[in-house]
Amino acid sequence: MLPRRAHWWLVKYVVCVPDGCADEPIDALGGRTPLEAAAMPTLARLAKRGEVGRAAVIPAGLPPGSDVGNMSILGYDPAEFHTGRAPIEAAALGLRLRSDQVAYRCNLVTIGADGTMVDFAGGHPSSDAAAEVIAALDKELGGDGVSFHPGVQYRHIVVAPGEWSEAECTPPHDLSDRPVVWPTGPAASRLQEVMDASRDVLARFDLDANQVWLWGQGFQPEMPSFLERYGLHAGLCTAVDLVRGLGVLTGMDVVEVEGATGWFDTNYEGKRDAALHALSSGADLFLVHVEATDEAGHAGNLDEKISALENWDTRILAGLVDGLDAIGPWRLLLLPDHPTPVRLKTHTTDSVPYLLVDSERVGPGGVYSEPGTAEASAVAGHELMSRLVDPSSQRPGV
Ligand SMILES: [Zn+2]
Repeated sequence: MLPRRAHWWLVKYVVCVPDGCADEPIDALGGRTPLEAAAMPTLARLAKRGEVGRAAVIPAGLPPGSDVGNMSILGYDPAEFHTGRAPIEAAALGLRLRSDQVAYRCNLVTIGADGTMVDFAGGHPSSDAAAEVIAALDKELGGDGVSFHPGVQYRHIVVAPGEWSEAECTPPHDLSDRPVVWPTGPAASRLQEVMDASRDVLARFDLDANQVWLWGQGFQPEMPSFLERYGLHAGLCTAVDLVRGLGVLTGMDVVEVEGATGWFDTNYEGKRDAALHALSSGADLFLVHVEATDEAGHAGNLDEKISALENWDTRILAGLVDGLDAIGPWRLLLLPDHPTPVRLKTHTTDSVPYLLVDSERVGPGGVYSEPGTAEASAVAGHELMSRLVDPSSQRPGV
């Protein structure tokens, strides 16, 4: 066993997550999907020598959020571990919840005079501008166990007493351009009170956002560390709080990359280099998450979605593969956490294409796209991590 294990120990693992990249055939692209239309020569080359298939990253009955999808990708079954989205993001902010506390996601949103959700992202305020608003909200609406905590751009956290958890809330990105659906359930009136009162506070600031929207609540989940579960030292980089929070909750090394914005202008090369640096200095596994593909989907912006995919290829994958080859044997897993079709501007529960590549072994090969994997029956998303790192499936070449 020992020599084989020694070899396995040297393998480096990379997980690539183009958030929400999966889409559907689009008339303007002659019936192709953005993944098919984008020029992605490195991805195509990897798919040709790897294995493509479909993964069900959103288990039945759970909402198709990045919290659920990325939990699957990290190899934790959301059906077992997921309690809500907000406690994961709270962990990213360094908040540890007591067992009698619930965390809510607090969006800054723009709701029209006619009650339409005009923008679930409140015009994408800067994090600094948003932090001033959150501080004012905390001062004026906080207290009695309720507190506001600033996050990134439009994404913030409210911590509240545990009994506030009893409400049905609609994710604001599912309401884009539609009449809002207010919370229901035993705690709904408390949430409504906060959301209503926030309008007066927001009115004093020069932002597109005009109120907060509370949703995604949950108690802190109990997840075993990644090291405990997979025996590997792992790290990740992301601009999104909830992916960072999953890293915190699983004891991964969360690497900050300068210029990682969660937007179209993010620092792709910085993320690639963070992965290579971590893997060449002790980490066994590194996850690179890029939000731009998802934001393009939400914005219904086909051009940005395609250019985000092309940026993935030229500014991350090409150099990543060269860098990995220079380090030693490697395995790579690439898949999004859910589809975000530009036509729908929101997430869907559909299975997504995945790609597994082993530098030492040529796989069956295929095309990494939605139609290219349409015939495959979907595997459970959280099982792919075991397939990526399982030493019994390592058959290094000579
Ligand atoms: Zn999204």
